[in-house]
Amino acid sequence: MLSLYVHIPFCRRKCAYCDFASYPYSSAAMEAYVQKLCREIADYRERAGLQALNTVYIGGGTPSLVPERLLENLFEQIRDAFDVLEDCEITLEANPGTFARREAEGWRRLGVNRVSLGVQALDDELLQRIGRIHTEGQAEAAVRNVQDAGIRNVNLDLIYGLPGQTLPAWEDTLRKALELGPTHVSAYQLINEENTRFRYQLLEGKLPALPDEDTALAMEERAADLLEASGLRRYEVSNYALPGFECRHNITYWQCLPYLGIGCAAHSDLFGRRYGHTPSLSGYLEEEIPARLEEAYGTDRQERMFERVMLGFRMTRGVDLGRFRRDFGTGPEALWPESYAYFEREGYARTDADHWALTDAGMRIMNTLLVRLLSEAERKGGG
Ligand code: SF4
Repeated sequence: MLSLYVHIPFCRRKCAYCDFASYPYSSAAMEAYVQKLCREIADYRERAGLQALNTVYIGGGTPSLVPERLLENLFEQIRDAFDVLEDCEITLEANPGTFARREAEGWRRLGVNRVSLGVQALDDELLQRIGRIHTEGQAEAAVRNVQDAGIRNVNLDLIYGLPGQTLPAWEDTLRKALELGPTHVSAYQLINEENTRFRYQLLEGKLPALPDEDTALAMEERAADLLEASGLRRYEVSNYALPGFECRHNITYWQCLPYLGIGCAAHSDLFGRRYGHTPSLSGYLEEEIPARLEEAYGTDRQERMFERVMLGFRMTRGVDLGRFRRDFGTGPEALWPESYAYFEREGYARTDADHWALTDAGMRIMNTLLVRLLSEAERKGGG
């Protein structure tokens, strides 16, 4: 079973803080791009045979900009090339301000059963400050349009640590978001990425300062308190869901299960072999058929074991020990005995029969723990 990611790299306008592969939208470019996606999917089918799909994620960029006719072509191609399982989770990322109820109804007809909305903040001043194209009112209308179209599973992406944002302002966004009845909320801290308009604006003093570290930490804790009090359980460092609404697609990444990425900037991890597409739109469009399976490279065992722990630790359920032992023929307690004992002794991790998971205290210093693990692995030089 496979998860499929399809990247749509077009946006109406670049948000100030964004460093994703995204390009200005034009209908001609979108048309050519979706045709190329369909060719890439057909080519994969020819090489790999029929595979079952467990999740599909149309991400971007702004997938809600894809016109219905082209989205139909894309879904037709996906259903032709794969065995899309009956309970397949099919997510489409949408940007408030780019669609109405009619479009959401079209997505549902095509089989989309989960919409992830880039709300970010429910505060017009902050939205404008970070260069979003939508308003608070449009975000609220967008959630209602999706729900009224019959798609109940709605994720709201929120960002905290915005320039000039206070703790009460963040709480206000969280409360308003919860009133909209999401099944899932992702709450990420803003990253001040290099080479973004945002970074230059901050350096030039054109934006209020970012909240300090203590405030950002308080924001994270407040998110956990308010979301969990509303029944959204934290199941990953930055992700909360009602029971049964955890994002199956993203869990695929955190569990290091196989996924296929189609489109520019997309990456694939297919049964231990990987490849990635160029982030360049013209590069992707001009290549005959990008990233053939034959070009995939194998990954180092040591690297894969560490990655399994690094990503598994992000989830509250932790690393699946049974699968780890089956895949690598050994367990973390034998591979990294010093770190393993230290994590348990200090109360940073706990182990039950099936999982090795960080405690709340461990989650707070996850990076430090991973560095410790990595240096033990490097000292031993193998696995
Ligand atoms: S909508 Fe998303 S992908 Fe597009 S520019 Fe904004 S943050 Fe980046």
